[in-house]
Amino acid sequence: MIEKNKIVLSFVFLLIFTAFGCTEKKAAVTASLKEMTASYPSPIRQHILSDSTGFLELMEKVLNLPPEMFVMADKKHALGENFIPKDLVKLADYPDLTLSRKTLLLRKVALPDLRRMSHDAQKAGITIVISSTYRSYRYQKMLFNREVKLYGLKTAERESARPGTSQHQLGVAIDFGSISDEYAHTPAGKWLMENAWKYGFSLSYPSGYEWLTGYRSEVWHYRYITPLGTELQRKYFDNVQQYMLMFIHDNRKKLTELIGTIKRQ
Ligand SMILES: [Zn+2]
Repeated sequence: MIEKNKIVLSFVFLLIFTAFGCTEKKAAVTASLKEMTASYPSPIRQHILSDSTGFLELMEKVLNLPPEMFVMADKKHALGENFIPKDLVKLADYPDLTLSRKTLLLRKVALPDLRRMSHDAQKAGITIVISSTYRSYRYQKMLFNREVKLYGLKTAERESARPGTSQHQLGVAIDFGSISDEYAHTPAGKWLMENAWKYGFSLSYPSGYEWLTGYRSEVWHYRYITPLGTELQRKYFDNVQQYMLMFIHDNRKKLTELIGTIKRQ
């Protein structure tokens, strides 16, 4: 009888200990995420903190993807002159895609989802026209200089990118259709706005965020960040790509460590 009581007692202690350990671990995770999200808008902080387990599970999958999928290319984070994607393919080799020019190149990694998106749009009676994709550092330099000559530096900074700071150099950014504000009102523009995320394409410069992205709204410019990336962006980052990229850029190491600690325990 005494032995049995001892066993029961040890079991109870074990339970209390485990529960205490779990609570402690959870508090540590929350504290860590609170610190990482401190400078983010409160809806984003709330989404992340109220579902830290789901957030870290999805974040782990995203961090396991090749890091260049989430690398920043903007006014504050320039890609070097030598950043040239290795898996560029000629889109003209895929006759199922509709192109405005035959010379367009895109990273192969984005191709299956782009084709899937194009097929599905077609099924809905909509043609997605691909107008601009990969741009080399040198080509962007030429474009930017031309823009400065035509419209002056101030306008060029808002509407074009200095060489090294364009997402197009990544090889996964696409400009669709007319490359103009009117595109938002076309069936294709509307369809993309509603559906592109399902295929891993994210609108890079939404309206109302020029102060954050550095660019005025571009309803035609999408960046491929994989379907896991768009899921993370929608669920936890208020559907703003720039916030998600910033968060990953600033916290990649801390997040990897945090996920590692949780898994070890
Ligand atoms: Zn663009």
